Amino acid sequence: MKKIYRNFELDTHKEKSLAGYLLLYFAIYDKDGYEWVCGFEDSVEKVVNKIDDLEKWVDEFYENIKNKICSDCYEELDDRLYCKFCDLDYNKYIK
Ligand SMILES: [Zn+2]
Repeated sequence: MKKIYRNFELDTHKEKSLAGYLLLYFAIYDKDGYEWVCGFEDSVEKVVNKIDDLEKWVDEFYENIKNKICSDCYEELDDRLYCKFCDLDYNKYIK
């Protein structure tokens, strides 16, 4: 299932692994297609619950910008909301 949430695309779906059991895949992309989060886990969790988790990640992402923290490396951003470690400009996320 895909969902747009606060300018991010959240993607979760279940897929059979090579071993034959179901895995839950999840990813978060920004509107430029940059992949912020990606992974998989055992499928005990429901897809809708995982979407909730991803929404929380996005909320935290915006919270981090407010607190001038990079969501990639968790280092401090400079006054222009730029992370010199990741070469990321956070201004585009708050416009
Ligand atoms: Zn960073």
